[in-house]
Amino acid sequence: MKTIDQLNFAGKKALIRVDFNVPLDKDYNITDDNRITAALPTLKKILADGGSLILMSHLGRPKDGPTNEFSLKHIIPHLSELLGKEVQFADDCIGEQATEKAGALKDGDVLLLENLRFYKQEEKGDKDFAEKLSKLGDIYVNDAFGTAHRAHASTAVIAQFFPQAKYFGYLMAAELENAEKVLNGAAKPFTAIMGGAKVSDKLLLIESMLSKVDNLIIGGGMAYTFAKAQGGTIGNSLVEMDKLELALELIEKAKQKGVNLLLPLDSVIADAFANNANTGVALKGEIQDGWMGLDIGPESVKLFSKVVAESKTVLWNGPMGVFEMETFEKGTKAVAEAVVEATKNGAFTLIGGGDSAAAVAKFGFSDDVSYVSTGGGALLEYMEGKELPGVKAINEL
Ligand code: AMP
Repeated sequence: MKTIDQLNFAGKKALIRVDFNVPLDKDYNITDDNRITAALPTLKKILADGGSLILMSHLGRPKDGPTNEFSLKHIIPHLSELLGKEVQFADDCIGEQATEKAGALKDGDVLLLENLRFYKQEEKGDKDFAEKLSKLGDIYVNDAFGTAHRAHASTAVIAQFFPQAKYFGYLMAAELENAEKVLNGAAKPFTAIMGGAKVSDKLLLIESMLSKVDNLIIGGGMAYTFAKAQGGTIGNSLVEMDKLELALELIEKAKQKGVNLLLPLDSVIADAFANNANTGVALKGEIQDGWMGLDIGPESVKLFSKVVAESKTVLWNGPMGVFEMETFEKGTKAVAEAVVEATKNGAFTLIGGGDSAAAVAKFGFSDDVSYVSTGGGALLEYMEGKELPGVKAINEL
């Protein structure tokens, strides 16, 4: 793997695609700086070598050109603090000012470019736009795993302008190494825990995992599509009626492949989608009208926790219930505890980004698992067996 370790950046201007797409509150304070701190090892290595940094990122989903709301200038104070030095800013990611500021950088200087997505060309993967960006630096580094599944100008297309000078940053390298451990080097028993709202979102991942895992646990909203398909009543629970047949096919495939498919035995049910709803417990396929399953129940917790704790490899993607509400967080929390226990027993445990990472962080377990990915969609696609454009662009000659 071509990582930044293979180069001394002294005197070089490193053009780095980072993922600084951090959540901001209404006063533009960063509410979770994980994505920035995850990139720091790369930034510090290049600065320590005596190179300078030109940082490019997107922030949010701006619809139509520049807006204050999505300006990366809001992160300057915190980034300066984390790096322990002044961060310069170009209020357009291409054009005269960016060119001048990049050109004037001295060794050890840091320049942050304005939001790439203020240009439509970024997401379109426009080659001319990518070429303009490429002129700003000597070496291209991609450390934005969170957007590695996108063939955007700054994440993939730009790499062609650095045929001899393109590298993975440390975060990208760590993400790929950890994903590979699960995908192609998993110690057995290997358990995948799938949760979240919809079967359709995780379908490809479930199919890919069926050829790899010993145990496949399915929880969260998607479990009700399976329960319904098996002839149960699910009340007002989340269901994808057009995926019933598919659910039965997955159950059949798991049987054929000798995978132990575990569906919830019971659910915590509620009479409303609210933290203060009336609640109860119902057995699988026995939820009455007017009630909905919003978490796995106590018997499911016991079953899932035992299987997880005895595993040597665990991949977790998607919560077991509506963990954002305290009343329905117990199943997700218990499974998280089992993942922590497995880790203590020597298992390799990988938490997919997005909601699973948020859940593990909410319960304070982020440091007690083997690795928490920063990429939701990117990790999902990698695990589905797809080649990520951002990875391919660096790897190809
Ligand atoms: P996903 O983005 O597909 O991983 O879905 C995560 C979301 O699914 C979270 O916001 C959960 O609140 C939600 N979720 C999990 N279980 C359920 C459920 N039983 N009913 C409704 N939503 C759920």
